[in-house]
Parts: sequence; structure tokens; C-alpha cells
Amino acid sequence: MALDEIERERLRELVILFLHEKSIHGAGGMRVRDEVRVAIAIQACILILNLGLDYYRGWVEVIVYPDEFVAEYDYVDEAGVSHHVEASMTGESWERGPVVLSWADAQQAGLGDGYNVAIHEFAHKLDMLNGEPNGFPPLHADMQRAAWAGAFAAAYEDFCAKVDGGYDLEIDEYAAESPAEFFAVMSEAFFECPARVRDLYVDVYAQLAQFYRQDPVFRVGAVTARARRAEAKPLS
Ligand SMILES: [Zn+2]
Repeated sequence: MALDEIERERLRELVILFLHEKSIHGAGGMRVRDEVRVAIAIQACILILNLGLDYYRGWVEVIVYPDEFVAEYDYVDEAGVSHHVEASMTGESWERGPVVLSWADAQQAGLGDGYNVAIHEFAHKLDMLNGEPNGFPPLHADMQRAAWAGAFAAAYEDFCAKVDGGYDLEIDEYAAESPAEFFAVMSEAFFECPARVRDLYVDVYAQLAQFYRQDPVFRVGAVTARARRAEAKPLS
């Protein structure tokens, strides 16, 4: 993540507040060392860099497993039949409850492939600020609900059609699961490989940039330009 000096300072402050307010602890034999705590806090705070810690209100717990973990669910289907399901998970977000992460998977962040389970789960948390996750987090006053809905509905439809058609979009196909997963996966990609999101769905990119109040494509370009200027300096 190519943050400038001011953003890095803001991130540092947010990480301290996050670690103070949230409780990050291990499960399944995971020992949560300080470096694990800080690494998870950094991922969480990248999303709220320009939103503030208040966007993570209403919950306190992050649970970290060493690797994939098994989640168990009971649910009743439309026919009234009860089911018990066990599924292997890399991450999970509970409404008004904890975020659960696999540390082995959380460490895969920053490789440029769009995969970032921590950003994915914390994006669900933002989506849950206004009720059940549906890919529609609370928008800012200067945003239009119709513009968000239009951009995401069109992109989701296109994405699902392309996944069905066997195209490789270089974005996690899990996004086709539901509008909530589409928002979480697009958020991962927005921070991890922003140009891919912009090139594929420019309207979704624009909405995410307004929502997160960040423009990661511009940020990467600015850092590259700074590096080029530094390289171009004459030797002294
Ligand atoms: Zn998800």
C-alpha cells in the first residue's frame, strides 16, 4: 500500500486507537503476538483511514486462528427443514459480533492478486453498519443511493454472467455469491489491485473511492512519479 507521509501518520494513530479499543485474541492454539495484532490492525485501519474508528462501532472482538477453521451453522430452509452445516473458512464476520480470521490467510495480503481476507471481513463490518450485509453500506451525504445501486447492480450482473461463461476476471469468483460478497471482494481488490477494478468496472471504482474517500490508483501513480523524480536526480 503506497501511502504518503500524512496517510502513514494517520494510519499509525488509527492503529493505536484500534488496538486500544478492540480485543484481538487467538483460538485453535494460535498465540497472538504483538506483530500479529499490529498486522491485523493495519489491515483493518486501511479501510477506515479517511472514515474514522467510529465506523467499527458496535463490536470489539477479533479472533485469530492459525489457519483455516471450521464454522458450524444451524439453519432452517424454506421448506422448514433444519440443517447443520460445517464449513472450512478463512474468515468470518458476525453482525454485532466478532471478526474471525485465519492468520495463514491474513498473511497473504499485499501480493497484488486482490486477495486480502482481513480487508474482506472488515468490509463486511462496514456493510453491517446499517443492518444485514447486502452490499449497501451507509453512504455519505454527498453520495447518491441510485448511483451506488446502479453501478453495483450492473457490475454484479456482468460479473456473474462472466463467471458462468467461464471467463477469468482475475478477481475472486466468490464475489458472484451475493451482492454482499461482491462488495467485500471488490473492496479487497480496490485496495490490493485497484487498477483492475477501475479497468473492469469504472463506476464501481468511483463509488468505492467516494465511500472509502481514497483513490488507490492515483496513490500508486503518485508514488511511482515520486520514485521516478528521485531516480532522475543528478548524482552529486
Ligand atoms: Zn464474505
